[in-house]
Amino acid sequence: MAAAFGTVFMPEMAITWFDGANWSVPEMVSSDSLTLHPGAHVLHYSSTCFEGLKAFRHEDGSVNIFRMDRNIARLSQSSDLLGLPHLNADVVAQMIKDTVARFADEVPAPPGSLYIRPTHIGTEPAIGKAAVPSDKSCFYVLVSPVGDYFAGGDKALRLLLEDQGMRCAPHMGMIKSGGNYASALQPIMKARQSVQADQVLFCPGGDVQETGAANFLLIDGNEIITKALDQSFLHGVTRDSILTLARDMGMDVQERELTVAELLERAAKPGCEAALSGTAAVLAPVGTLIYQGKEYAVGHGGVGETTRKLRKALNDIQWGQAEDTHGWLTRV
Ligand SMILES: *Cc1c(COP(=O)(O)O)cnc(C)c1O
Repeated sequence: MAAAFGTVFMPEMAITWFDGANWSVPEMVSSDSLTLHPGAHVLHYSSTCFEGLKAFRHEDGSVNIFRMDRNIARLSQSSDLLGLPHLNADVVAQMIKDTVARFADEVPAPPGSLYIRPTHIGTEPAIGKAAVPSDKSCFYVLVSPVGDYFAGGDKALRLLLEDQGMRCAPHMGMIKSGGNYASALQPIMKARQSVQADQVLFCPGGDVQETGAANFLLIDGNEIITKALDQSFLHGVTRDSILTLARDMGMDVQERELTVAELLERAAKPGCEAALSGTAAVLAPVGTLIYQGKEYAVGHGGVGETTRKLRKALNDIQWGQAEDTHGWLTRV
C-alpha cells in the first residue's frame, strides 16, 4: 500500500532565518529536524502559516510548478496578517524552485506529483509575547512526493452541514494558519463519529462557506455557484483556477452568498453536482449532504460529469496535456 499523503519527505529543504534585522542567505539543510527554543513564539501563540502547491512532471521530462505566484502572494498576506517578518517574494520563489530542482528526478509522473509545503514560523523565544508579534522567524520549503489522490476510487463524499459553529474566527479565515485547523478539529471529529461524515461544511448562520481544508462549489447545470471572496474563508488557488476554466467553457460562474436553504433545494434536482476544491484533489465530488439529522443526495448521489470534466481540464494543464493558455506553469 502507498504511504499516506504527506508522510514521505525528501531529505533536504531550503531554509532561511530572520534574526530581527536580516534574513540569512538561504541554504539547503537536512529536512529531518529543526532546532527551536522551547519558548519559541510559534509553539505558544501559533505564529505559523504555510502553503500547499504542486510540481508536475511532463512527458518531455520537464518539471513544472502550478501557480506558484498565487501561493507566494497568499503566504505573504498570511505572514503580514500574523505580524510575522515580511517575506521577499523573489527569494521565496527561488527557494521553492531550488528545492524542487534538487529533487527533480524524484518528482512522480502524473497522476502523482511533488507536493510543496512552504512554512513560515515565529521563532523568537518570548513567552511574554502573547499579544505581540514574533521579531524572529524561520521560513523553509519542505517537499513530499505524492501519488494518485483517487487511488482508492473516485468516491462521492458525505458532508455534514454545520450552521451553528464556525471553522475559525471570521477575521482569520483567509490566513492559511495552523490555529484554524485546530479550531475546526472538534466539529470534524464529532461529525465523523456521529454521522460518518467525511468532512464538515461550515455554514455559520446558514451562509455556505467551506470545509476544514477545501472550498465548496455547487454545480447546477450550466451554473457554478460559490461564496464570494471575503476575509472569513480561505481563497483557494484551485477554486480560482476552476472558476477560470468554467468561464472559458462558457459556464455561468456566480460568486455570491449561497444559503443552506438554496443549497438543499438545488441539490435535490437530478442533474445537480457539488464538489470540494483544493490542491490535493483538485475537485473531490460530494454525494451526500447531512443536515439536522436528515440525509440529502446531491443529484444522483454519485460522481458528477461536470465535476469530472472540470477536474480533467485542470489536470490536463498541470500534466502538460493541454495548452497552458493562462500562463499558470513555471518550468523549474
Ligand atoms: C488550502 C485550503 C484550501 C484550498 O486552497 P488551494 O489553494 O486550492 O489548495 C481551502 N480551504 C482551506 C481552509 C485551506 O486550508
